[in-house]
Amino acid sequence: MAKLKVKGTDETIEVKNVYCIGKNYPDHIKEMNIPGLDNSIPKTPVIFLKPSTAIETFNNTVSIPLVNGEAISNDLQNEVELVIVVGKDGDNIPEENAMEHIYGYATGIDFTLRDIQTEMKKQGKPWAVAKGFKTSSPVSEIVSDGNIKNPQSLDIKLAVNGELKQSGNTSQMIFSLKYIIHYLSSVFGIRRGDLIFTGTPAGVCRLVKGDKVSAEIQDIGRLEVKIG
Ligand code: MG
Repeated sequence: MAKLKVKGTDETIEVKNVYCIGKNYPDHIKEMNIPGLDNSIPKTPVIFLKPSTAIETFNNTVSIPLVNGEAISNDLQNEVELVIVVGKDGDNIPEENAMEHIYGYATGIDFTLRDIQTEMKKQGKPWAVAKGFKTSSPVSEIVSDGNIKNPQSLDIKLAVNGELKQSGNTSQMIFSLKYIIHYLSSVFGIRRGDLIFTGTPAGVCRLVKGDKVSAEIQDIGRLEVKIG
């Protein structure tokens, strides 16, 4: 069972469901423009799920999966994201009570097999393979909620081999953290141990074997992984 450490304590949180929000930063929607598809700003959150195994990495290494010895993709890309860790179960949570359900936050990367995702989008098929493969979602240690004054105003960035690729602020989100919790709790119900990846700013790029990826969110911390 996948577990995450809470920074500065002996505590761990067992990961339950992994929810992800797509298209939550306007500049990323712009860069993802695919001719012939709807590239507009969504009116309701775009939600997908990953298996909890997606957060497990081996020696902090992220890899494109092999099936029968062959890599299934040729286009692994980075997406740095603020991750909410749910601390308290809830259903139909009003926005004004949403923050009470947060245990803390982490820095995560929603790694994506972009070639597969684009093809699935064109065919109208699910993204599960493109988004939920083994090692696709490494997450840093959790910082408890009390240490973060305004999670909706944090610098978020990612560098590849020391070169800055993504740089944004959580204030740019289309759907706020409160609204995301309200929405997910109304549709699915949220439970302690659920992770919610809240979307990525612009700057995604193709990664190759040997790349060192460093993601950082202000006040939360850094996450470093290598591509294997
Ligand atoms: Mg994402």
